[in-house]
Amino acid sequence: MQLNQLTISELTAKLARREVSAREVLQSCLDQIGRVDGKIHAFLSHDADDALAQADAADKLLSEGGSAGRPLLGVPVAVKDVLAVKDQPLNCGSKILGQFVSPYNATVVDKLKAAGAIVFGRLNMDEFAMGSSTENSAFGVTRNPWDPTRIPGGSSGGSAAAVAADEVIAALGSDTGGSIRQPAALCGCVGLKPTYGRVSRYGLVAFASSLDQIGPFTKNVRDAATMLGVMGGHDPRDSTSVPQPVPDYAAALTGSSPDGPTIKGLKLGLPKEYLIGGLDAEVKSAVDAAVKTFQELGAEIVEISLPHTDYAVATYYIIATAEASANLARFDGIRYGRRVDGADPVELYSKTRGAGFGDEVKRRIILGTYVLSSGYYDAYYLRAQKVRTLIRNDFLKAYETVDAIITPTTPTAAFKIGEKSDDPLQMYLSDIFTISCNLAGICGISLPCGFTKNPKLPIGLQLLGRPFGEATLLQIAHAYERGTGWHSEKPPL
Ligand code: GLN
Repeated sequence: MQLNQLTISELTAKLARREVSAREVLQSCLDQIGRVDGKIHAFLSHDADDALAQADAADKLLSEGGSAGRPLLGVPVAVKDVLAVKDQPLNCGSKILGQFVSPYNATVVDKLKAAGAIVFGRLNMDEFAMGSSTENSAFGVTRNPWDPTRIPGGSSGGSAAAVAADEVIAALGSDTGGSIRQPAALCGCVGLKPTYGRVSRYGLVAFASSLDQIGPFTKNVRDAATMLGVMGGHDPRDSTSVPQPVPDYAAALTGSSPDGPTIKGLKLGLPKEYLIGGLDAEVKSAVDAAVKTFQELGAEIVEISLPHTDYAVATYYIIATAEASANLARFDGIRYGRRVDGADPVELYSKTRGAGFGDEVKRRIILGTYVLSSGYYDAYYLRAQKVRTLIRNDFLKAYETVDAIITPTTPTAAFKIGEKSDDPLQMYLSDIFTISCNLAGICGISLPCGFTKNPKLPIGLQLLGRPFGEATLLQIAHAYERGTGWHSEKPPL
């Protein structure tokens, strides 16, 4: 195996034993980027000199025995183009930010660096994280490493594709309605959306502030646990981050059993509302097989009901667009990035925004402005907030009897580039299984659970956990992964 193909735990063990250097690990990622990124286009840019300097600093620390307290020392991690990294470009997949360079680090970036990670590269995404295919990027589409004629999912398509193609060891993305879990499913990696408030959003460019969370893309569940342990925690700079202690997620994987992880006696819920008509037969049979595996591992499967599921997509597209219309008002040509001059301020705003934003972002701003406008606020926005509470209550009620919920991550495997780009409603429906998790503010993970046959494309299994129940969620996911091994398959690059 090449170094760039290894997991965080494999690499940190080798680095600590000084069998390899951080520079060699990084170089092997850079080589892979050189080899495959022309085809995949996961990266918008990467600053190799800065990354090599970080690798040399990591090697110095390693030679001084500095790995204690630095669980990511020497591990290359790339970030979605929506997270601020000091002195690096920040575009959010949009033209509107022009030549903008971040003046500061996002809190998660500071935390990764403090843990020893080499943070480098800007990963492609749908403009302002609005989309499910990465086709809405202003900088060209990212391609699925399993089949370059297909989309990698979105909006964090660059993050998923980069990890799946072994261009980097782990990556960060953001998830507002599925943007970590859906691309992870379609590219065959592990994607974790933490509970709302688990991870600081400081330095994440806001799309819909009450739904957005930052989370990791990794090659296996253990690595997701390690990443979340580093990223989580209260941050005085984000008032929505919750002051709850961060558990030792990696330790939770082994549980109390000396023989390794066990999920014996845990109850897993199967929501009857998720067996919808549009569910692809191969996706359904992979999830059915996963349910069997869980039973063999000693879990009890319980049928549950989440009765307000049908309203999730509509509710999401009211709340998310309303918040987006307010958040994106700041891109006005005055303070940031690109400006198209006009005779007066109103003309300047409208020319700048007209030229800077793509079609999907404009569609959402118009929709969001409409649902917030006087006369419609009560009928749409206020009502959506009430339905959101009902959706959250469905989950809290389910968690009175089950420890986690099993669903497919997506209704189908990766679709063709161009297949849904002219049909926003079809595109919105590809998030039908992931959206409720954000509305409810709970945590969710997607992990590989099989492949379609012809062509061979990854299928994702989604597990949804209690608020702040990431430790149990990771324990269940880890047991499944050990019992199956789908995660170790590699795309034919
Ligand atoms: N695909 C969904 C949307 O377009 C979710 C995006 C996300 O999670 N950022 O809004």
